[in-house]
Amino acid sequence: MTFSKQTSLIHSKHKTDPHTGAVSVPIQHASTFDQPDIEQFGDYDYARSGNPTREALEDTIADLENGTHGFAFASGMAAISTTFMMLSSGDHLVITDDVYGGTFRLTTKVLQRQGIEHTFVDMTDPEAVARAVQPNTKMIFMETPSNPTMKITPIKEIVKIAEKQGCLTVLDNTFMTPVLQRPLDLGVDVVVHSATKFIGGHSDVVAGLTIVKDEALAGELKFLQNSFGAILGPQDCWLVLRGLKTLHTRMEASSLAAAKIADWLLEQPEVEHVYYPGLKDHPGYDINQEQAEGAGAVLSFRLADKEAVRKVVQAVEIPVFAVSLGAVESILSYPPTMSHAAMSDEERNARGITDGLLRLSVGLEKPEDLMNDFAQAFKKIGVKESWR
Ligand SMILES: *Cc1c(COP(=O)(O)O)cnc(C)c1O
Repeated sequence: MTFSKQTSLIHSKHKTDPHTGAVSVPIQHASTFDQPDIEQFGDYDYARSGNPTREALEDTIADLENGTHGFAFASGMAAISTTFMMLSSGDHLVITDDVYGGTFRLTTKVLQRQGIEHTFVDMTDPEAVARAVQPNTKMIFMETPSNPTMKITPIKEIVKIAEKQGCLTVLDNTFMTPVLQRPLDLGVDVVVHSATKFIGGHSDVVAGLTIVKDEALAGELKFLQNSFGAILGPQDCWLVLRGLKTLHTRMEASSLAAAKIADWLLEQPEVEHVYYPGLKDHPGYDINQEQAEGAGAVLSFRLADKEAVRKVVQAVEIPVFAVSLGAVESILSYPPTMSHAAMSDEERNARGITDGLLRLSVGLEKPEDLMNDFAQAFKKIGVKESWR
């Protein structure tokens, strides 16, 4: 009998420990493993190269993404950095222009120094992507929906361009998770995640994941994971595995709530614009419908200015005001000074990340409570400081 992903995630081969029957994956802390012979080694030798707890997580995420191999890293940035290590000096990278701030920093400040060139491009426009490709382009890096303006990249169109060029495609799937979007099925070569976000889901672990379905690529990533060494520790692997068990339910509930809140925000006079790919007039609505099974749980909205943002942030009671997203508690963040602080004001404004922009990652609270909370906070916008 074959099960849906939602069921097989919980009833996989890691459901019980074969030695004890324990219904939770054991946390193996050993750094080294006793070997039976001078020539024949067991499945594990040294824990950087392989660890059974990490392997359980790597198997689980590979299965969820319809891949064959998964790799767990110490953070999302470690997963992305290790993936970029497939590039060499003299190679060129085409990358989405509203990429995550940390990936922007890595590309402009680290890869550049190592002789890896890049071109930022609006990935919603396949023609612009095709124009940006050079003879030495070895990788196209996508992130969809993008952060924080939720732009949608037409994944299949970009894959076609990469196939023509014979280069790799990498997609940061952090915002959607494999519950809503499975890029490997759409022809993407490498999927990366910050598992710190929805996959972990509880704001209590920093982790990264990379998934592929090609044997040669898996071999290369395994080699790079072991060479670079930015692996995820066993305790943190267990926390991510625990978070994963409720991923489907969390994504479903939070996406539903996000859709309700986005509709409500549209009606509020204090809100100038709402960025959510589930809204019918969002420019990427149709493409997102086609390539994903939902619009996710993150939305952004624009208030008049920084002063309005300051008042709302001070007045809201439910969401935590913090960096990060994808947790049981709603997280409100201010991209200009948080996720996109590494960007100059000019670059930031050019990407639509203006002074009035707030991003909301919707958690598991009752959506009506969140709307009431924002309603009372919006009332403070018109009020002069001295009147309070
Ligand atoms: C947070 C994030 C990252 C970086 O992940 P860390 O776990 O913080 O290193 C990369 N991409 C996206 C889209 C993110 O939101």
